[in-house]
Amino acid sequence: MTNLAINTDKQMGKKSASGRPTYATIDLSAIQFNYAQMANKAGHSKTIAVIKADAYGHGAKQVAGALNGIVDAFAVAFIDEAIVLREAGIKQPILLLEGVMHAHELVLAQRYNFWVMLHSDYQIEWLTTLEQQQRPIIWLKIDTGMHRLGLTVEALEYCLSNYPTLLQSTSVLCSHLACADETDNAFNLQQIAQLKQLANHYCLPISLANSAGIDNWPASHGDWNRVGIALYGYAQPHNSQANLRVAMRLHAPIIALKTIKKGESVGYGRSWIAQKDQLIATVAIGYADGYPRHAAAGTPAFLHTQTIYLVGRVSMDMLTFDVSQVNEVQIGDQVELWGDNVSVERVAAHAGTIAYELLSRLSPRVTRIWR
Ligand SMILES: *Cc1c(COP(=O)(O)O)cnc(C)c1O
Repeated sequence: MTNLAINTDKQMGKKSASGRPTYATIDLSAIQFNYAQMANKAGHSKTIAVIKADAYGHGAKQVAGALNGIVDAFAVAFIDEAIVLREAGIKQPILLLEGVMHAHELVLAQRYNFWVMLHSDYQIEWLTTLEQQQRPIIWLKIDTGMHRLGLTVEALEYCLSNYPTLLQSTSVLCSHLACADETDNAFNLQQIAQLKQLANHYCLPISLANSAGIDNWPASHGDWNRVGIALYGYAQPHNSQANLRVAMRLHAPIIALKTIKKGESVGYGRSWIAQKDQLIATVAIGYADGYPRHAAAGTPAFLHTQTIYLVGRVSMDMLTFDVSQVNEVQIGDQVELWGDNVSVERVAAHAGTIAYELLSRLSPRVTRIWR
């Protein structure tokens, strides 16, 4: 059925002489390209590159390095993520999307030139205890319907009238869209209208659109947009004509090949039974690497020039695929788990999740290669 010759020198030895050749290869030029695409779609806006959660698993330092000098600003979730970038020499402003979690972080943020999203009264109280020159630049988050973070309209009114020195000339009024990927959901228009009305009233610049907002809701484009997932090559919804390049290819080697007879099972719980004689490849990656354990039998991957399908349960360190239809499979051949040929969104759909989760949960155990 197949040529079982060992191919370790050619395939496994390619990167290093020892160790597990399970890699996420990250194309930084694709991220630069995607940033330019998204920035061009909103020519009147500045565009923040969102690189929280280690740039959705792509390596925040490397991604920031590749976008340095191109982007207007970066955003991360919290101060620890931002400090790592400053210490790596990133000079641009960095917005903290969740603001600060301790009062003293405000002083640090000022020193490091981080922009701080204030979304709750307690953060505003911390800020008002500081001298003007100790305060970082702040952005104000308004809740327009996401109901996760953000001041109410009344709280905004209260704080702007009671603390007239709260805002600086570079402060921005922000909100976040709850359904930007739903191209016909009128809730988006409601959120857009509410933020714009407040911004007009207080004469402030706005920031609202994420990747899907940039693509689907031109009216959501603000003075600043915040592009995350699209940087990495994925648009929402997936059928949109976004013209992006997938940045990450996750691949792992075949470490065993077995012919399974009709009626035999593969993997834990014997959940998958061969319906005919089949060739099964065991691949060196599993849920401890961030491959989703809930990926069902039938989840696609790619080998040589063909789509192959998962059989049996996902193990901690291994996956099993039916490769009966593939010619000349050898030990050491690299299987693409996601990348150009099989999108991470397809894999996510088979595991009951979304691309964001799979990318951001790719574990440090997987060696990253940036090129
Ligand atoms: C993560 C995040 C973004 C980026 O969203 P994408 O859908 O990845 O483009 C934008 N704004 C806020 C507040 C976020 O938390």
